[in-house]
Amino acid sequence: MPLTESPSQPNTRSVQSDPPRLQIKQRELGRFRDTQSGPTLVVIGGVHGNEPAGLIAGQRVLDHLQSVDAHAFQGQFVLLAGNMSALNDHDPDSRYIDHDLNRLCLDAHFAEPSTTSAEHQEMHELFSVLESIQHAASNADQEMIVLDLHTTSSNSRPVVVFEDSLAARSHAMRMPCPKYLGIEEEIDGLVIDAVTNRLGCVSYLVEGGQHEDPRSIDVHEAAIWIALDSAGIYPIAQSPGDPGAVIRKAAMDREGVVYDVRHREPILDESFTICNDIFNGTHAIAEKTVLAIQSGQPVHSPITGLIFLPNMQTHKRIGDDGFFIVRRISPGWVNLSARLRRKHWVHRMILLMPGVYQGESSTLLVDADLACVLRRQVFHLLGYRLVRHDGREGGTGVVRFFKGIGAFCKAIVRGPIRGQYGDGPDPSDPRFWIVARRRLDQPI
Ligand SMILES: [Zn+2]
Repeated sequence: MPLTESPSQPNTRSVQSDPPRLQIKQRELGRFRDTQSGPTLVVIGGVHGNEPAGLIAGQRVLDHLQSVDAHAFQGQFVLLAGNMSALNDHDPDSRYIDHDLNRLCLDAHFAEPSTTSAEHQEMHELFSVLESIQHAASNADQEMIVLDLHTTSSNSRPVVVFEDSLAARSHAMRMPCPKYLGIEEEIDGLVIDAVTNRLGCVSYLVEGGQHEDPRSIDVHEAAIWIALDSAGIYPIAQSPGDPGAVIRKAAMDREGVVYDVRHREPILDESFTICNDIFNGTHAIAEKTVLAIQSGQPVHSPITGLIFLPNMQTHKRIGDDGFFIVRRISPGWVNLSARLRRKHWVHRMILLMPGVYQGESSTLLVDADLACVLRRQVFHLLGYRLVRHDGREGGTGVVRFFKGIGAFCKAIVRGPIRGQYGDGPDPSDPRFWIVARRRLDQPI
């Protein structure tokens, strides 16, 4: 058995609630396949060193699969360790060694050598393994899907997070817990983002609950069974117990709820502390509510919404996420978005709008005054992602309406723009935001 548990390190928390420390000796911890071909589900656990629950759950699934009818299993299940250095670190709170692996996976860092840091080596090794699995899958004309399992420092319920493409929706929406869209626009370098945009694979992330809560392992195991079913590899009816019921119960039957991530607050000082009366989000917070204290000063919520993933880690590090603010989206928006983004004429219409220009490859350059007003109501709705933006908001209500009208009029009066490369502005022109249709939504 590849996973071995070592005694918990002595610390101030109760022995009963400590997650077991794992000794990870190899990146690939197990693989189950049948004799027929089929899709591949790759599960990654421990991208953060203090989050071993996904690996324990993955090992449970592998153990169970040893005793099932292999003919019902059509495809492949692979379990990979994320940040081996941090998982094997003697400090039980070690989330990472030098850099957060779940913020590092950017093209610029992939261009740097493995020797740059502990996490550069982890990233290169992890993606090398993923690429070889994907290569084998695509040679067999099969799909690879990646599920990244995490837990949280705060007491929380399970949620699923994904880049909002139609392909990812078809898998992630099957998880019977709240869905979170748009986190990739607030933070760079997510593992799932690199899997989707470098490898072209559906990838999604499940937060299973609090690090120390043993129910997080149950949730992750249930998530793997559901993911195997969604991928068409192993039917849920053959899974042990009722995985859907496990997640529904842990999520308090909130599976139809969808949120949009609107704001990320970075930690600027290691003294950052979430206020005692602030919990991972079920109650709305008003604009300017004090959510944390940092360097002796209050940290306010810049907008109304719900707090998501408040940082309760023992060790805070500068640049880590302090908290996110999210807002609820209606199911009608989700359904309308799915219908519209499949229509080719809709995407051609966008290019006819004043202030919108064709950029390099699949990108559009959009006048910033217009883009900030339309970012959610048009671009997110139709499956476009902000690639470069200046973070400004378009306002609300009447202000937003008149800002939009003003931006349209300005673009019409200004007329066509010719940049150094011909029609349309230069991509480096800061007056324009760059947006791109989500890779998995793009026509092949
Ligand atoms: Zn994590």
